[in-house]
Amino acid sequence: MSKNLFLRSLIDSIPDLIFFKDKNSRYLGCNRAFELFIGKSEAELIGRHDNEVVDDGKAGEYQAQDQLVMESGEQLKTEGWHVFKDGRRVLIENIKTPYYDENHQIMGVIGVGRDITERWLSRQRGMARLNILEMIARHEPLEKILLTVVESLETEEPSRQCSILLVSDDNTHLLTGAAPNLPDFYNQVVHGLPIAVGLGSCGTAAATGMRVIVEDIQTHEHWANYKTLAANAGLGACWSQPVISSRGRVLGTFAIYHALPCSPTQDDLESIEFAASLTSIAIEYHQTQDALEKQATTDSLTGLANRRYFRTLAEAEISRQMRSNRSLSLLYLDIDYFKSINDQYGHQAGDQVLTAVAAYFRISLRDQDVIARIGGEEFAILLPDTSSTEAQEIAERIRTGFAMLKTEGLPSDIKLTVSIGLTTLDTQTVTLDELLNQADRALYQAKKLGRNQTRVFQTA
Ligand code: GH3
Ligand code: MG
Ligand code: MG
Repeated sequence: MSKNLFLRSLIDSIPDLIFFKDKNSRYLGCNRAFELFIGKSEAELIGRHDNEVVDDGKAGEYQAQDQLVMESGEQLKTEGWHVFKDGRRVLIENIKTPYYDENHQIMGVIGVGRDITERWLSRQRGMARLNILEMIARHEPLEKILLTVVESLETEEPSRQCSILLVSDDNTHLLTGAAPNLPDFYNQVVHGLPIAVGLGSCGTAAATGMRVIVEDIQTHEHWANYKTLAANAGLGACWSQPVISSRGRVLGTFAIYHALPCSPTQDDLESIEFAASLTSIAIEYHQTQDALEKQATTDSLTGLANRRYFRTLAEAEISRQMRSNRSLSLLYLDIDYFKSINDQYGHQAGDQVLTAVAAYFRISLRDQDVIARIGGEEFAILLPDTSSTEAQEIAERIRTGFAMLKTEGLPSDIKLTVSIGLTTLDTQTVTLDELLNQADRALYQAKKLGRNQTRVFQTA
């Protein structure tokens, strides 16, 4: 075997892209991998400049690199995306090295290119994962986290448009979580899409809990009702991965769209699974946070604010009212003879009364009023922007309506009554404790004077 033939076999066996050029950046030869990459044979290549070889508009850049390498005599390492005619992209790391003859005269450049797309992708994913987990740990809003997941997947492959849909609380519909690059008119139709087989890729994926790959929207049965909409939005393919919780519940979907019909590669499938798993962590964490917060702030029987949360809300409200110099009133309510309800009809009937009372307060008061269950059968109601006179009217309305309350578990002829203590913020009263104390004293008066009445706190 001649030495030349051996060297030829050697460079053809190397998977990296190898080429050599003369002093004027004209190709002198290349290996098999380079031929396959640029879609031209070595014979077609020899004697040509890059502007006759590559069609990605980078010929000038490549030639400038060659000249730099030859002038400096040093190796040059660059990275750049190469986009094929079919839209496929690969990231190539290129190392160019000058080479010399026996007399140390410059001969040209040897180039070695390596496809580092996979390396880039795993670094990209690692960074995305870290970034998103950090956002979750910092309690960033869910919308912002979902947006970052979508953006990470779109950065991986710019021809993608991605979306996250969330399952509604009643598990019947999909709601938009993040879809920054899909048209608004499209998102509006998808927002509220029922979860059912045949309602697009995402409706089907959420209904079945299985990945749905629709390669061509225009011909697929799941898109029969939406193909015009998709065409108007410039969407040709839609692959949807269900987002599944750690307990196996469907929380939403992660979708990848493409403008043209296409099927996913192995990389695409890994991407979509990666995105769905990050999305699931983010949603589950958010739901746990929400549940904990609710537990910490509300009374579990009535759903009203608990004592601690009432204090937080009331303190904020007091300082707001003092800044704006507006009046603020507080009602303290205690159900009359409640113990006898429990004694006669049972504790469960007592609980039903408390639930009905809470519902009654909610419908009788304004949104800005703060209603809380302070103790067993005691409630506090904070009335912002409400003078003493107005508060007395509200208190009387509540008290008289109370007698009409109907409660399951109680005979209909039982009349419930309530005693109410009322006080209003003035320039001397500055703390919540003072205010609560005044209302409590007024309530005590109401009880002492026979119950079923409203008493206003008097300074004297
Ligand atoms: P008064 O007119 O003086 O307010 O009489 P009362 O019986 O309402 O007052 P008291 O404070 O003596 O009794 C309150 C009762 O409320 C005692 C307790 O058994 C009952 N209670 C407290 N929390 C709950 C609860 O969560 N569910 C039920 N069913 N009863 C409760
Ligand atoms: Mg009581
Ligand atoms: Mg009572």
